[in-house]
Amino acid sequence: MKFVVMKFGGTSVEDAVAIDRTARIVANRRAQGVLPIVVVSAMAKVTDQLIAAASAAGRGDRAGSLAISARLRHRHHDTARKLLLPAGAPIGSEPPPFAEFAEWIDKQFESLDEIFRGLAAVGELTARTGDMVVSYGEQLSSRMVTAGFAARGLDAVHVDSRKCIITDAQYGRAIPNDALIEKRLEEVVLPLLKEQKLPVMGGFIGSTEEGVTTTLGRGGSDFTAALVGGGLNASVIEIWTDVNGIMTTDPRICPDALRVKTISFEEAAELAYFGAKVLHPATILPAVQKNIPVAVLNSRNPENEGTRITALASHCRSPFKSIAVKKRLTIIDVVASRMLMSHGYLKSIFDVFDKHKCAVDMVSTSEVSVSVTVDSNEKLPEISADLSKVADVKYEGRKALICMVGEDIRGQNGIAAQVFQAIRHVNVRMISQGASEINMSFMIEEDDVDEAVRSLHAAFFQDPDPEVFDVQARAVASAVPESVGR
Ligand code: ASP
Ligand code: MG
Repeated sequence: MKFVVMKFGGTSVEDAVAIDRTARIVANRRAQGVLPIVVVSAMAKVTDQLIAAASAAGRGDRAGSLAISARLRHRHHDTARKLLLPAGAPIGSEPPPFAEFAEWIDKQFESLDEIFRGLAAVGELTARTGDMVVSYGEQLSSRMVTAGFAARGLDAVHVDSRKCIITDAQYGRAIPNDALIEKRLEEVVLPLLKEQKLPVMGGFIGSTEEGVTTTLGRGGSDFTAALVGGGLNASVIEIWTDVNGIMTTDPRICPDALRVKTISFEEAAELAYFGAKVLHPATILPAVQKNIPVAVLNSRNPENEGTRITALASHCRSPFKSIAVKKRLTIIDVVASRMLMSHGYLKSIFDVFDKHKCAVDMVSTSEVSVSVTVDSNEKLPEISADLSKVADVKYEGRKALICMVGEDIRGQNGIAAQVFQAIRHVNVRMISQGASEINMSFMIEEDDVDEAVRSLHAAFFQDPDPEVFDVQARAVASAVPESVGR
């Protein structure tokens, strides 16, 4: 059997119109003889609002959290009404069970409000309860999409992802258990596919073996798609979003950005982390391991061929495939005045980051100093206090990372000179050429980003290779990109 995982992001299910469009895309795939498994995010911005409501409740702001919840309840009801009670339902189909679904929505929000009241009474929000709260976004959207698909004549069956995506108990960023997931998918999802049904499941959410709800981290629906695709050996994983695939750079910064038609796993993995959040970085891993291609597609423009991510890179004239930007970073400079020349020094520094579970983006070292960058300021005071025990520490925010990716820079001479020539007026704070040899990254001031990106793009994408880049259509920045509007 040929399976395709089709993952739809928040903007592809943001309202009845979007879900209707999504239903048509899926129906088209089925008409091509493919069996899709659909994975959906919460409706756009719902996760953010659930997080806001949970933290309001955690601060004791009962009214505030209940007000957010009431707005979300209204939005879900409104979408359900427009989705399930339209005049356009196919003739001969049963009347859509709208009343039943509306009742179900109310029940969800009643239990959600119960949690908010409890949180507000206690005035404390734990990571575990946080996951419980945000999971409602995907629970609601996946049921909504299932109901909408069914009303349009698709044989959709809802699958509670928490029965399949088994994880550890690191709430907020749980680690999946691949072996168990594979087993559960075979037990729960495979039989549905064999009956030619259309399984629909929520992304991002999972549960521990004991059945406690967890989440895979922000943007984690792509990860779910990859886990499902990997677990069931899908022939392709389609990530449906609201842009035409991976671009040569952020079109909001540089209107000349081009669509990249094909990119290698390795290049995409480098970009995914730093990039425009078109794709969750971890998506790459389960797909690479099983050699499953990933396609990034636009649900608002389904005819567009998007970006195909494949095992091997296609070579092209430009040494780079894309320029990624990551803003809001902090540089931490650690100067080893006291422990100069001693061994185990780097270890002692990274132990501190490990202790505070803080991910480091980039590192540069010299004999006496180490500079690292981090994207979260949350633990900075604690990290800095701990580092001060072994070194002098300084940190500075409002920095940005520019990451230039391309397999063709391997072994080529003079690339660095071209890069820094293009941005000779910009102050570069840190430089690193990745061990993978396919990325060149450097840190600059956030204020210099726009100018630097435009100069670099002009320097490297003047004469784009039509095999690799879509030279026909210049990019149009979409109104609400997924990265902003989830
Ligand atoms: N809804 C989740 C989030 O906004 C997961 C996702 O959309 O991928 O982070
Ligand atoms: Mg996303």
